Amino acid sequence: MQYYSLNNPTGAPVSFKEATIQGQAPDKGLYFPQSIPALPKTLLDNIDTLSREELAYQVIRPYTGDTIPEPELRRIVAETINFDFPLVPISPASSTPGERPIATVSPGEPLPASANPATTPSAAASSGKTPATNSWALELFHGPTLAFKDVGARFMSRCLGYFVRDTHRPVTVLVATSGDTGGAVASGFYDVEGINVVILYPSGKVSSVQELQLTTLGKNITALEVNGSFDDCQQMVKEAFADQSIKQKLFLTSANSINVARWLPQQFYYFFAWQQWADKAHPPVICVPSGNFGNICAGILAHCSGLPASHFIAACNANDVIPMFLQTGEFQTKPSVPTLSNAMDVANPSNFVRILELFGKHLPSLQKTLTAYSISDEETITAIRRLFTDHHYLADPHGAVGWLALQRFLEAHPGEKGYFLETAHPVKFYDTVEPIIGQRIPLPDSVAPLLDKQKQSKKIEAHYTILKDFLLS
Ligand SMILES: *Cc1c(COP(=O)(O)O)cnc(C)c1O
Repeated sequence: MQYYSLNNPTGAPVSFKEATIQGQAPDKGLYFPQSIPALPKTLLDNIDTLSREELAYQVIRPYTGDTIPEPELRRIVAETINFDFPLVPISPASSTPGERPIATVSPGEPLPASANPATTPSAAASSGKTPATNSWALELFHGPTLAFKDVGARFMSRCLGYFVRDTHRPVTVLVATSGDTGGAVASGFYDVEGINVVILYPSGKVSSVQELQLTTLGKNITALEVNGSFDDCQQMVKEAFADQSIKQKLFLTSANSINVARWLPQQFYYFFAWQQWADKAHPPVICVPSGNFGNICAGILAHCSGLPASHFIAACNANDVIPMFLQTGEFQTKPSVPTLSNAMDVANPSNFVRILELFGKHLPSLQKTLTAYSISDEETITAIRRLFTDHHYLADPHGAVGWLALQRFLEAHPGEKGYFLETAHPVKFYDTVEPIIGQRIPLPDSVAPLLDKQKQSKKIEAHYTILKDFLLS
Protein backbone atom coordinates (compact mmCIF):
# COMPACT_ATOMS: atom_id res chain seq x y z
CA MET A 1 0.00 0.00 0.00
CA GLN A 2 1.22 3.47 -0.92
CA TYR A 3 0.05 6.75 0.55
CA TYR A 4 -0.47 10.10 -1.18
CA SER A 5 -0.72 13.59 0.25
CA LEU A 6 -4.25 15.00 0.23
CA ASN A 7 -2.69 18.33 -0.78
CA ASN A 8 -1.23 16.80 -3.92
CA PRO A 9 -2.95 13.56 -4.97
CA THR A 10 -0.87 13.22 -8.14
CA GLY A 11 2.49 13.66 -6.37
CA ALA A 12 4.89 10.80 -5.62
CA PRO A 13 3.33 8.37 -3.13
CA VAL A 14 5.23 7.01 -0.09
CA SER A 15 5.29 3.70 1.79
CA PHE A 16 3.69 3.04 5.19
CA LYS A 17 7.16 3.33 6.73
CA GLU A 18 7.80 6.71 5.16
CA ALA A 19 4.32 8.00 6.07
CA THR A 20 4.79 6.87 9.69
CA ILE A 21 8.20 8.49 10.07
CA GLN A 22 7.16 11.71 8.33
CA GLY A 23 3.79 12.02 10.08
CA GLN A 24 2.72 14.68 7.64
CA ALA A 25 3.64 15.12 3.98
CA PRO A 26 6.26 17.81 3.30
CA ASP A 27 3.50 19.88 1.64
CA LYS A 28 1.63 19.67 5.00
CA GLY A 29 -1.06 17.39 3.55
CA LEU A 30 -2.42 14.34 5.38
CA TYR A 31 -1.39 10.96 4.01
CA PHE A 32 -4.18 8.82 2.55
CA PRO A 33 -4.10 5.21 1.28
CA GLN A 34 -4.13 4.85 -2.50
CA SER A 35 -6.88 2.24 -2.33
CA ILE A 36 -9.33 0.99 0.30
CA PRO A 37 -8.89 -2.77 0.77
CA ALA A 38 -12.05 -4.90 0.68
CA LEU A 39 -12.08 -7.50 3.43
CA PRO A 40 -12.78 -11.05 2.23
CA LYS A 41 -16.42 -12.04 2.69
CA THR A 42 -15.34 -15.26 4.40
CA LEU A 43 -13.54 -13.24 7.05
CA LEU A 44 -16.69 -11.25 7.85
CA ASP A 45 -18.92 -14.34 7.71
CA ASN A 46 -16.69 -16.18 10.15
CA ILE A 47 -15.82 -13.24 12.35
CA ASP A 48 -17.13 -14.96 15.50
CA THR A 49 -14.58 -17.74 15.12
CA LEU A 50 -11.53 -15.49 14.81
CA SER A 51 -9.33 -14.43 17.69
CA ARG A 52 -9.09 -10.68 18.14
CA GLU A 53 -5.38 -10.87 17.26
CA GLU A 54 -6.09 -12.64 13.97
CA LEU A 55 -8.91 -10.25 13.08
CA ALA A 56 -6.82 -7.15 13.82
CA TYR A 57 -3.89 -8.58 11.89
CA GLN A 58 -6.10 -9.22 8.83
CA VAL A 59 -7.50 -5.68 9.03
CA ILE A 60 -4.13 -3.90 9.19
CA ARG A 61 -1.98 -6.12 6.97
CA PRO A 62 -3.00 -4.52 3.64
CA TYR A 63 -2.02 -1.11 5.02
CA THR A 64 1.49 -1.96 6.17
CA GLY A 65 2.34 -3.85 2.98
CA ASP A 66 5.86 -5.24 2.96
CA THR A 67 7.29 -2.65 5.38
CA ILE A 68 6.85 -4.93 8.42
CA PRO A 69 7.36 -8.72 8.19
CA GLU A 70 4.47 -10.93 9.27
CA PRO A 71 5.83 -12.21 12.63
CA GLU A 72 6.81 -8.67 13.64
CA LEU A 73 3.41 -7.27 12.65
CA ARG A 74 1.62 -10.05 14.54
CA ARG A 75 3.66 -9.22 17.66
CA ILE A 76 2.92 -5.49 17.31
CA VAL A 77 -0.80 -6.14 16.88
CA ALA A 78 -0.96 -8.51 19.87
CA GLU A 79 0.83 -6.00 22.12
CA THR A 80 -1.40 -3.19 20.89
CA ILE A 81 -4.67 -4.87 21.90
CA ASN A 82 -3.75 -6.80 25.04
CA PHE A 83 -6.74 -5.52 27.03
CA ASP A 84 -10.56 -5.75 26.86
CA PHE A 85 -12.96 -3.97 24.49
CA PRO A 86 -16.36 -4.97 25.92
CA LEU A 87 -19.68 -4.01 24.35
CA VAL A 88 -21.86 -3.34 27.40
CA PRO A 89 -25.67 -3.04 27.22
CA ILE A 90 -27.17 0.12 28.68
CA SER A 91 -30.22 -1.03 30.59
CA PRO A 92 -33.49 0.71 29.75
CA ALA A 93 -34.49 3.39 32.28
CA SER A 94 -35.60 1.61 35.44
CA SER A 95 -39.35 1.66 35.91
CA THR A 96 -38.96 1.75 39.66
CA PRO A 97 -37.11 4.90 40.54
CA GLY A 98 -35.25 4.69 43.80
CA GLU A 99 -34.76 0.97 43.37
CA ARG A 100 -31.08 1.69 43.62
CA PRO A 101 -30.05 3.18 46.96
CA ILE A 102 -27.94 6.00 45.59
CA ALA A 103 -28.94 8.43 48.29
CA THR A 104 -27.85 6.04 51.00
CA VAL A 105 -24.32 5.57 49.68
CA SER A 106 -22.14 8.05 51.51
CA PRO A 107 -19.44 9.98 49.68
CA GLY A 108 -16.20 8.08 49.58
CA GLU A 109 -17.89 4.71 49.76
CA PRO A 110 -17.32 2.67 46.63
CA LEU A 111 -20.26 1.89 44.40
CA PRO A 112 -21.63 -1.63 44.56
CA ALA A 113 -19.69 -3.41 41.83
CA SER A 114 -22.79 -4.75 40.13
CA ALA A 115 -24.13 -1.26 39.57
CA ASN A 116 -20.93 0.13 38.21
CA PRO A 117 -20.11 -1.21 34.78
CA ALA A 118 -17.23 1.24 34.56
CA THR A 119 -15.31 -0.90 37.02
CA THR A 120 -16.76 -4.30 36.19
CA PRO A 121 -16.84 -4.29 32.41
CA SER A 122 -17.69 -7.89 31.90
CA ALA A 123 -20.40 -8.18 34.56
CA ALA A 124 -23.20 -7.21 32.22
CA ALA A 125 -21.77 -9.06 29.26
CA SER A 126 -21.28 -12.30 31.15
CA SER A 127 -24.61 -12.31 32.99
CA GLY A 128 -26.13 -14.16 30.05
CA LYS A 129 -29.33 -12.13 30.10
CA THR A 130 -30.41 -10.41 26.91
CA PRO A 131 -31.62 -7.03 28.06
CA ALA A 132 -34.32 -5.32 26.06
CA THR A 133 -32.26 -2.34 25.11
CA ASN A 134 -31.44 -0.42 21.95
CA SER A 135 -28.16 1.08 23.21
CA TRP A 136 -24.74 -0.29 24.07
CA ALA A 137 -21.46 1.25 25.16
CA LEU A 138 -18.27 0.10 23.47
CA GLU A 139 -15.79 0.61 26.31
CA LEU A 140 -12.40 1.68 25.01
CA PHE A 141 -10.88 2.65 28.35
CA HIS A 142 -9.44 -0.63 29.57
CA GLY A 143 -5.90 0.12 28.33
CA PRO A 144 -3.00 1.46 30.39
CA THR A 145 -3.97 5.16 30.25
CA LEU A 146 -7.73 4.64 30.33
CA ALA A 147 -8.66 6.17 26.96
CA PHE A 148 -9.03 4.88 23.40
CA LYS A 149 -5.86 6.70 22.34
CA ASP A 150 -3.89 3.81 23.84
CA VAL A 151 -4.64 1.72 20.75
CA GLY A 152 -3.21 4.19 18.23
CA ALA A 153 -0.30 5.17 20.47
CA ARG A 154 0.72 1.58 21.24
CA PHE A 155 0.58 0.58 17.59
CA MET A 156 2.45 3.62 16.36
CA SER A 157 5.20 3.46 18.99
CA ARG A 158 5.94 -0.14 18.13
CA CYS A 159 5.94 0.49 14.37
CA LEU A 160 8.28 3.44 14.81
CA GLY A 161 10.50 1.42 17.16
CA TYR A 162 10.74 -1.23 14.44
CA PHE A 163 11.45 1.28 11.64
CA VAL A 164 14.28 3.03 13.50
CA ARG A 165 15.85 -0.10 15.00
CA ASP A 166 18.97 0.22 12.85
CA THR A 167 19.28 3.98 13.11
CA HIS A 168 22.19 5.09 15.19
CA ARG A 169 20.89 8.59 15.85
CA PRO A 170 18.41 8.71 18.70
CA VAL A 171 14.91 9.64 17.55
CA THR A 172 12.99 12.41 19.32
CA VAL A 173 9.22 12.20 19.31
CA LEU A 174 7.76 15.65 19.93
CA VAL A 175 4.09 15.99 20.80
CA ALA A 176 1.67 18.59 22.14
CA THR A 177 -1.30 17.36 24.18
CA SER A 178 -4.57 18.75 25.46
CA GLY A 179 -4.78 15.82 27.88
CA ASP A 180 -5.24 12.25 26.71
CA THR A 181 -2.69 12.08 23.90
CA GLY A 182 0.22 12.84 26.23
CA GLY A 183 -0.43 9.95 28.59
CA ALA A 184 -1.10 7.47 25.78
CA VAL A 185 2.04 8.48 23.88
CA ALA A 186 4.17 8.48 27.06
CA SER A 187 2.96 5.01 28.00
CA GLY A 188 3.23 3.70 24.43
CA PHE A 189 6.86 4.82 24.01
CA TYR A 190 7.99 4.22 27.59
CA ASP A 191 11.35 2.45 27.60
CA VAL A 192 11.34 1.94 23.81
CA GLU A 193 15.00 1.80 22.90
CA GLY A 194 16.44 4.60 20.78
CA ILE A 195 13.44 6.90 21.20
CA ASN A 196 13.14 9.97 23.40
CA VAL A 197 9.74 11.54 23.94
CA VAL A 198 9.14 15.23 24.69
CA ILE A 199 5.58 16.16 25.62
CA LEU A 200 4.30 19.74 25.82
CA TYR A 201 1.14 20.32 27.85
CA PRO A 202 -0.65 23.48 28.99
CA SER A 203 -0.07 24.13 32.68
CA GLY A 204 -3.25 23.91 34.77
CA LYS A 205 -5.41 22.87 31.81
CA VAL A 206 -5.29 19.06 32.00
CA SER A 207 -7.02 16.93 34.65
CA SER A 208 -4.97 15.71 37.61
CA VAL A 209 -5.03 12.08 36.47
CA GLN A 210 -4.00 13.12 32.97
CA GLU A 211 -1.10 15.18 34.35
CA LEU A 212 0.17 12.33 36.53
CA GLN A 213 0.02 9.91 33.61
CA LEU A 214 2.34 12.05 31.53
CA THR A 215 4.71 13.38 34.21
CA THR A 216 5.52 10.37 36.38
CA LEU A 217 7.13 7.85 34.04
CA GLY A 218 10.65 9.30 33.79
CA LYS A 219 13.32 7.41 31.79
CA ASN A 220 12.98 8.41 28.10
CA ILE A 221 9.86 10.55 28.70
CA THR A 222 10.17 14.29 29.42
CA ALA A 223 7.17 16.50 30.18
CA LEU A 224 7.36 20.24 29.50
CA GLU A 225 4.71 22.19 31.41
CA VAL A 226 3.99 25.22 29.27
CA ASN A 227 2.73 28.45 30.74
CA GLY A 228 0.08 28.88 28.02
CA SER A 229 -2.74 27.16 26.15
CA PHE A 230 -2.87 23.94 24.11
CA ASP A 231 -2.74 26.09 20.97
CA ASP A 232 0.54 27.62 22.21
CA CYS A 233 1.97 24.12 22.73
CA GLN A 234 0.90 23.03 19.27
CA GLN A 235 2.35 26.19 17.73
CA MET A 236 5.74 25.56 19.39
CA VAL A 237 5.77 21.98 18.10
CA LYS A 238 4.94 23.15 14.58
CA GLU A 239 7.78 25.68 14.68
CA ALA A 240 10.21 22.97 15.71
CA PHE A 241 9.19 20.84 12.73
CA ALA A 242 9.63 23.79 10.38
CA ASP A 243 13.07 24.65 11.82
CA GLN A 244 15.80 23.28 9.55
CA SER A 245 18.55 24.02 12.10
CA ILE A 246 16.89 21.57 14.51
CA LYS A 247 16.30 18.96 11.85
CA GLN A 248 20.00 18.91 11.02
CA LYS A 249 20.89 17.98 14.57
CA LEU A 250 17.96 15.82 15.64
CA PHE A 251 15.93 13.04 14.07
CA LEU A 252 12.59 14.61 14.94
CA THR A 253 9.19 13.02 14.42
CA SER A 254 5.68 13.53 15.76
CA ALA A 255 3.11 11.26 17.40
CA ASN A 256 0.32 13.48 16.23
CA SER A 257 -3.13 11.98 15.76
CA ILE A 258 -2.96 12.53 12.00
CA ASN A 259 -0.11 9.98 11.72
CA VAL A 260 -1.35 6.99 9.67
CA ALA A 261 0.11 4.59 12.26
CA ARG A 262 -2.17 6.11 14.91
CA TRP A 263 -5.19 6.54 12.67
CA LEU A 264 -5.45 3.14 10.95
CA PRO A 265 -5.34 0.74 13.97
CA GLN A 266 -8.37 2.53 15.40
CA GLN A 267 -10.39 0.40 12.99
CA PHE A 268 -9.73 -2.64 15.19
CA TYR A 269 -12.32 -2.04 17.86
CA TYR A 270 -15.15 -1.39 15.40
CA PHE A 271 -14.57 -4.97 14.22
CA PHE A 272 -14.35 -6.22 17.82
CA ALA A 273 -17.75 -4.59 18.42
CA TRP A 274 -19.18 -6.37 15.39
CA GLN A 275 -17.85 -9.68 16.78
CA GLN A 276 -19.88 -8.99 19.93
CA TRP A 277 -22.97 -7.64 18.15
CA ALA A 278 -25.65 -10.30 18.58
CA ASP A 279 -28.22 -9.29 15.96
CA LYS A 280 -26.15 -9.62 12.79
CA ALA A 281 -29.29 -9.11 10.65
CA HIS A 282 -29.58 -5.53 11.96
CA PRO A 283 -26.22 -3.74 11.93
CA PRO A 284 -25.69 -1.01 14.51
CA VAL A 285 -25.84 2.75 14.38
CA ILE A 286 -22.33 3.74 15.51
CA CYS A 287 -21.94 6.94 17.51
CA VAL A 288 -18.46 8.40 18.08
CA PRO A 289 -17.62 11.31 20.41
CA SER A 290 -15.55 13.44 18.04
CA GLY A 291 -12.98 16.23 18.23
CA ASN A 292 -10.29 15.86 15.61
CA PHE A 293 -12.44 13.24 13.80
CA GLY A 294 -9.66 10.64 13.56
CA ASN A 295 -11.53 7.98 15.49
CA ILE A 296 -14.79 8.25 13.54
CA CYS A 297 -12.83 8.46 10.29
CA ALA A 298 -11.26 5.07 11.15
CA GLY A 299 -14.76 3.66 11.75
CA ILE A 300 -16.02 4.92 8.40
CA LEU A 301 -12.89 3.55 6.72
CA ALA A 302 -13.63 0.15 8.29
CA HIS A 303 -17.19 0.44 6.92
CA CYS A 304 -15.81 1.15 3.44
CA SER A 305 -13.78 -2.08 3.79
CA GLY A 306 -16.89 -4.10 4.63
CA LEU A 307 -17.71 -3.53 8.30
CA PRO A 308 -21.54 -3.63 8.59
CA ALA A 309 -23.05 -0.43 10.02
CA SER A 310 -26.45 1.14 9.62
CA HIS A 311 -25.32 4.74 10.12
CA PHE A 312 -22.57 6.84 11.73
CA ILE A 313 -23.09 9.67 14.20
CA ALA A 314 -20.45 12.24 15.16
CA ALA A 315 -21.21 13.44 18.69
CA CYS A 316 -19.69 16.89 19.19
CA ASN A 317 -19.79 19.35 22.06
CA ALA A 318 -20.32 23.11 21.63
CA ASN A 319 -17.53 23.08 19.03
CA ASP A 320 -19.99 22.54 16.21
CA VAL A 321 -18.17 23.30 12.94
CA ILE A 322 -18.94 19.85 11.50
CA PRO A 323 -22.58 19.59 12.66
CA MET A 324 -23.14 23.00 11.03
CA PHE A 325 -21.30 21.95 7.88
CA LEU A 326 -23.41 18.80 7.46
CA GLN A 327 -26.57 20.85 7.92
CA THR A 328 -25.74 23.87 5.78
CA GLY A 329 -22.90 22.76 3.48
CA GLU A 330 -20.84 25.70 4.70
CA PHE A 331 -17.52 25.10 6.40
CA GLN A 332 -17.07 27.96 8.81
CA THR A 333 -14.29 27.67 11.38
CA LYS A 334 -14.41 29.68 14.57
CA PRO A 335 -12.22 29.71 17.68
CA SER A 336 -12.63 26.66 19.91
CA VAL A 337 -14.57 27.04 23.16
CA PRO A 338 -13.66 25.16 26.35
CA THR A 339 -16.17 22.50 27.45
CA LEU A 340 -16.51 19.65 29.96
CA SER A 341 -15.52 17.18 27.22
CA ASN A 342 -12.20 18.94 26.67
CA ALA A 343 -10.61 16.31 24.42
CA MET A 344 -13.15 17.37 21.79
CA ASP A 345 -12.52 21.13 22.02
CA VAL A 346 -11.27 21.34 18.46
CA ALA A 347 -12.08 24.23 16.16
CA ASN A 348 -10.85 22.81 12.88
CA PRO A 349 -10.87 18.99 12.92
CA SER A 350 -7.79 17.90 10.94
CA ASN A 351 -9.08 14.46 9.98
CA PHE A 352 -12.28 15.70 8.38
CA VAL A 353 -10.52 16.05 5.01
CA ARG A 354 -9.96 12.29 5.12
CA ILE A 355 -13.68 11.69 5.61
CA LEU A 356 -14.46 13.96 2.66
CA GLU A 357 -11.93 12.01 0.57
CA LEU A 358 -13.68 8.73 1.45
CA PHE A 359 -16.88 10.15 -0.07
CA GLY A 360 -15.20 11.66 -3.13
CA LYS A 361 -15.84 15.12 -1.61
CA HIS A 362 -19.54 14.59 -2.39
CA LEU A 363 -21.62 16.08 0.42
CA PRO A 364 -24.95 14.32 -0.33
CA SER A 365 -23.35 10.84 -0.12
CA LEU A 366 -21.60 11.82 3.10
CA GLN A 367 -24.91 12.99 4.58
CA LYS A 368 -26.45 9.59 3.84
CA THR A 369 -23.84 7.90 6.05
CA LEU A 370 -23.04 10.51 8.68
CA THR A 371 -25.14 12.68 11.00
CA ALA A 372 -23.56 15.05 13.52
CA TYR A 373 -25.05 16.55 16.68
CA SER A 374 -23.78 19.29 18.97
CA ILE A 375 -24.41 18.72 22.69
CA SER A 376 -24.08 21.54 25.24
CA ASP A 377 -22.33 21.29 28.62
CA GLU A 378 -25.72 21.55 30.35
CA GLU A 379 -27.00 18.59 28.35
CA THR A 380 -23.77 16.70 29.09
CA ILE A 381 -24.31 17.13 32.83
CA THR A 382 -27.91 15.95 32.56
CA ALA A 383 -26.81 12.99 30.45
CA ILE A 384 -24.19 11.89 33.02
CA ARG A 385 -26.81 12.14 35.78
CA ARG A 386 -29.54 10.32 33.82
CA LEU A 387 -27.18 7.56 32.75
CA PHE A 388 -26.12 7.07 36.35
CA THR A 389 -29.47 7.25 38.14
CA ASP A 390 -31.83 5.83 35.49
CA HIS A 391 -29.56 3.44 33.58
CA HIS A 392 -27.01 2.50 36.25
CA TYR A 393 -24.12 3.41 33.99
CA LEU A 394 -21.26 5.66 34.95
CA ALA A 395 -20.01 7.62 31.93
CA ASP A 396 -17.28 10.19 31.43
CA PRO A 397 -18.24 13.53 29.80
CA HIS A 398 -17.18 12.39 26.30
CA GLY A 399 -19.13 9.14 26.52
CA ALA A 400 -22.14 11.05 27.87
CA VAL A 401 -22.09 13.31 24.80
CA GLY A 402 -21.99 10.14 22.68
CA TRP A 403 -24.88 8.50 24.51
CA LEU A 404 -27.12 11.55 24.19
CA ALA A 405 -26.38 11.99 20.49
CA LEU A 406 -27.20 8.30 19.95
CA GLN A 407 -30.51 8.70 21.83
CA ARG A 408 -31.42 11.68 19.60
CA PHE A 409 -30.90 9.64 16.49
CA LEU A 410 -32.70 6.55 17.82
CA GLU A 411 -35.71 8.63 18.89
CA ALA A 412 -35.97 9.96 15.34
CA HIS A 413 -35.44 6.46 13.85
CA PRO A 414 -37.52 3.95 15.79
CA GLY A 415 -36.51 0.35 15.15
CA GLU A 416 -32.78 1.19 14.91
CA LYS A 417 -30.30 0.27 17.61
CA GLY A 418 -26.69 1.07 18.15
CA TYR A 419 -23.69 1.73 20.32
CA PHE A 420 -21.65 4.74 21.39
CA LEU A 421 -17.93 4.69 22.07
CA GLU A 422 -17.09 5.28 25.74
CA THR A 423 -13.76 6.89 24.91
CA ALA A 424 -12.33 7.41 28.43
CA HIS A 425 -12.73 6.06 31.93
CA PRO A 426 -14.84 8.43 34.08
CA VAL A 427 -12.08 8.59 36.71
CA LYS A 428 -9.96 10.59 34.26
CA PHE A 429 -12.51 13.35 34.69
CA TYR A 430 -13.44 12.80 38.31
CA ASP A 431 -13.28 16.54 39.00
CA THR A 432 -16.28 16.90 36.65
CA VAL A 433 -18.14 13.65 37.23
CA GLU A 434 -18.08 13.26 41.02
CA PRO A 435 -20.01 16.46 41.83
CA ILE A 436 -22.65 15.48 39.24
CA ILE A 437 -23.30 12.02 40.66
CA GLY A 438 -22.63 13.06 44.27
CA GLN A 439 -20.27 10.14 44.84
CA ARG A 440 -16.64 9.22 44.67
CA ILE A 441 -15.55 7.11 41.70
CA PRO A 442 -13.61 4.03 42.81
CA LEU A 443 -10.04 4.14 41.51
CA PRO A 444 -9.10 1.48 38.98
CA ASP A 445 -5.99 -0.51 39.91
CA SER A 446 -3.85 1.33 37.38
CA VAL A 447 -4.60 4.78 38.83
CA ALA A 448 -4.25 4.27 42.57
CA PRO A 449 -0.41 3.95 42.51
CA LEU A 450 -0.18 7.07 40.31
CA LEU A 451 -1.61 9.27 43.03
CA ASP A 452 1.32 8.48 45.30
CA LYS A 453 3.86 9.59 42.72
CA GLN A 454 5.51 12.98 42.36
CA LYS A 455 4.96 14.82 39.12
CA GLN A 456 8.23 15.58 37.29
CA SER A 457 7.83 18.37 34.78
CA LYS A 458 9.97 21.20 33.53
CA LYS A 459 8.10 24.51 33.56
CA ILE A 460 8.70 26.69 30.53
CA GLU A 461 7.27 29.87 29.06
CA ALA A 462 5.39 29.62 25.77
CA HIS A 463 8.24 30.79 23.52
CA TYR A 464 9.66 28.68 20.74
CA THR A 465 13.27 29.72 21.50
CA ILE A 466 12.98 28.11 24.94
CA LEU A 467 11.82 24.84 23.40
CA LYS A 468 14.61 25.04 20.84
CA ASP A 469 17.27 25.56 23.50
CA PHE A 470 15.87 22.62 25.41
CA LEU A 471 15.88 20.31 22.38
CA LEU A 472 19.45 21.23 21.46
CA SER A 473 20.83 20.98 24.98
C1 LIG B 1 -9.18 12.38 21.76
C2 LIG B 1 -10.49 12.07 22.42
C3 LIG B 1 -11.72 12.19 21.72
C4 LIG B 1 -11.80 12.71 20.30
O1 LIG B 1 -11.28 11.81 19.37
P1 LIG B 1 -10.95 12.30 17.88
O2 LIG B 1 -10.32 11.15 17.21
O3 LIG B 1 -10.00 13.47 18.04
O4 LIG B 1 -12.23 12.74 17.26
C5 LIG B 1 -12.88 11.82 22.36
N1 LIG B 1 -12.86 11.40 23.65
C6 LIG B 1 -11.72 11.29 24.35
C7 LIG B 1 -11.79 10.83 25.75
C8 LIG B 1 -10.49 11.62 23.77
O5 LIG B 1 -9.35 11.52 24.48
